[in-house]
Amino acid sequence: MDLKLAGKTVLVLASSRGLGKASAAAFAKEGADIVITGRSEESLKEAEKELLSLSASGRVSYYVCDITKETEVKELVEYTLEKFSRVDVLVNNAGGPPAGTFDDFDDEDWQKAFDLNLMSFVRAIRAVLPSMKQSGGGRIVNITSSSMKQTLDNLVLSNTFRAGLMGLAKSLSQELAPHGILINSIGPGKIATDRVAELDERKAGQTNKNAEDVQRESEAAIPLGRYGLPEEFAAQIVFYGSFANTYVTGQTLLVDGGLVKAL
Ligand code: NAD
Repeated sequence: MDLKLAGKTVLVLASSRGLGKASAAAFAKEGADIVITGRSEESLKEAEKELLSLSASGRVSYYVCDITKETEVKELVEYTLEKFSRVDVLVNNAGGPPAGTFDDFDDEDWQKAFDLNLMSFVRAIRAVLPSMKQSGGGRIVNITSSSMKQTLDNLVLSNTFRAGLMGLAKSLSQELAPHGILINSIGPGKIATDRVAELDERKAGQTNKNAEDVQRESEAAIPLGRYGLPEEFAAQIVFYGSFANTYVTGQTLLVDGGLVKAL
């Protein structure tokens, strides 16, 4: 299938590692020009090198940005426009909020999670829309969580802000359709990244088990019997973020090996 990504520019937030980097790599293989971003220049340099080795266009660049800062997000989009003159695809991604229950968090924690997991996406979308509207269309894909469909224990911040994002994406699918801009949200179940390894370690510490046992138990609950690979997740991001997707917008898709039973 031709994903119609050659000559297009893809901006991926929070992409120095994990699902963001895997998504950027998948777009690079399809011939798109890529801008990756994160807070650590060292990790971004490494990731840029890796992506250049896979890139069909040979055009990959990085920009250091803390996506919780409004001005830095604006500057990131300005950099992308200067570098590649357009933004056709925005992949919104962020680090996960801290694990914990309601009693664990004060107002400052809530504000931080709001800035990281909701406002960063709002601001990035706002900044890319003029370019997408001018070129007659675009694609926005939000990386979220299976908590869009079924809440996760001990992750009250994720459960709250992912639901907010679903409302935002559905509203925008209505408002942006006349401009040819399609927006969808994709939620990972358990995909083997550093974040999942850290959550397993944390759980192991709390339950007196080792992280391998925690992983084995988690995998037993997944109908496909294993954690997903970042590449398996990225394949869906690339399709919904591509111009081969011409009629799916406002939707929520889980990539979870069958884990979530909610309809
Ligand atoms: P990860 O922790 O491996 O990667 C997150 C990336 O976000 C890192 O590159 C980090 O540097 C970057 N980041 C964090 N805060 C940032 C900031 N302020 N500015 C710029 N960059 C920042 O996580 P992942 O597993 O790749 O997950 C990506 C998203 O998907 C997270 O929101 C996570 O909660 C969610 N998620 C992942 C899974 C999974 O199975 N991996 C499951 C459910 C939800």
